[in-house]
Amino acid sequence: APALVWFRDDLRLADNPALSGAVASGRPLAFLFCLDEVSEGIRPLGAASKWWLHHSLASLAETIEKHGHRLILKRGPAEGLVYDLVKELGAGTVCWNRRYGEGERAVDAALKARFKEEGVAVESFQASLLFEPWTVRTQSDQPFRVFTPFWRACMGAAPPRQPLPVPRSWPSPAKAVRGEALDDWGLLPRHPDWAGGLREAWTPGEAGAATRLEEFVETRLVRYAGHRDQPAEAATSRLSPHLRFGEVSPFQVWHAVENRRHASSTGAERSIAKFQSEIGWREFSWHLLFHKGNLATRNFQPRFDAFPWPKADPSALRAWQNGRTGIPIVDAGMRELWHTGWMHNRVRMITASFLTKNLLVDWRIGEAWFWDTLVDADAANNPAGWQWVAGSGADAAPYFRIFNPVTQGETHDPEATYIRAYVEELAGLDASDIHTVTKHAPPAGYPRPIVDLSASRQRALEAFAALRGGE
Ligand code: FAD
Repeated sequence: APALVWFRDDLRLADNPALSGAVASGRPLAFLFCLDEVSEGIRPLGAASKWWLHHSLASLAETIEKHGHRLILKRGPAEGLVYDLVKELGAGTVCWNRRYGEGERAVDAALKARFKEEGVAVESFQASLLFEPWTVRTQSDQPFRVFTPFWRACMGAAPPRQPLPVPRSWPSPAKAVRGEALDDWGLLPRHPDWAGGLREAWTPGEAGAATRLEEFVETRLVRYAGHRDQPAEAATSRLSPHLRFGEVSPFQVWHAVENRRHASSTGAERSIAKFQSEIGWREFSWHLLFHKGNLATRNFQPRFDAFPWPKADPSALRAWQNGRTGIPIVDAGMRELWHTGWMHNRVRMITASFLTKNLLVDWRIGEAWFWDTLVDADAANNPAGWQWVAGSGADAAPYFRIFNPVTQGETHDPEATYIRAYVEELAGLDASDIHTVTKHAPPAGYPRPIVDLSASRQRALEAFAALRGGE
């Protein structure tokens, strides 16, 4: 009986244990991707993620065809669709790589139970996380809530396994089954086509991910620790959307970096450790999501439920979304996001702090905007990042740490190179004039600050201080 490989957040052939397992079984093979936007607890993709998914699936389908096979596409509730497909194929085995979200796990558990009754084997594998969430526990056998001890525990465990190669000599295809056409899914924007900047910035798919990883490891990794906080430097890997869709695995990334440890000049050690600990933050976010569930809707710290978010002012929210707040580094970040579908980590923190603290807008509203516009929108990293900035998260920044976006701009973009790249109204000014633009009349076309930074900071401090009683 055939084996069905069900692709999910693992759109790659290399280091794909579900695929390798199915190929090794020698059974006739079938391949499925199912776009599920309806099952309970599964978050529908945002617009930028849909754009990415379209191209990533096109690329995956093409590489599968090179091996003489076809990728079957289905759209709808996964449990029923996978079950029916297994019946139609007469498959005896289903192979998948594990997922860690609540809704996704419920679908997988339901299918596993149904298949067990019918004698269809389910083989599941670890592929998307270096450390599965239930394997990392505190000394009192609890999940972690604080990053540093979490990562120390991970680093004390067995090191991540070596990545697997693309399997060779694939068995023949199972019988042909009708699927849907990717183009019929309408994942790409049409009127207007806002994806021009995304096309310029990215190459979705396994080959694009491999190029990005190689280029990062060879040229930028050694500078990572010293320059990762400078948005103008492009010193980070930009692997986040590739990791999100599983076009590259964390095991591949880990070992690509690890292999440079001896090959690189002095100074690389620090960068390697720093970079690996950022991969650790991804592991930590998924650890939190696995153990907590609804990270995108509920405050991690329940005492924040009492926080009286004022009703959001629609015009201030729109100014933030459009990059027209009158605060240069905030506007540069929001425009980078809109144009490329990505934003530098430092600037994510600055723009999120500005929204939640200076504008006192509920973090969930900002999280939803990022979810729609980021190509790396991640069900764990995005809400964890927002809750960290808002102060409601696990191991969060204390509420009174309110970024001053002007000082942040001066520190992290001293020459204003990053700001000039995205805020063309300011492109003709000197760096010092850009950093002080909030204090003067801005150049034509650029808005005055929509909020007074020090008064709004004071307002936020008072509002958040009221929560301290619950500490
Ligand atoms: P690098 O610095 O090269 O790091 C390598 C990888 O490590 C990243 O690709 C990512 O997978 C992981 N990583 C790095 N920093 C973090 C972090 N702080 N938390 C979790 N994982 C991290 N990351 C997402 O992948 N998706 C999101 O939706 C997302 N939303 C965020 C929202 C806010 C408000 C904040 C403050 C951060 C968010 N992050 C998110 C984390 C971080 O900003 C991005 O992972 C990072 O900017 C991606 O760029 P890079 O690949 O060049 O990172």
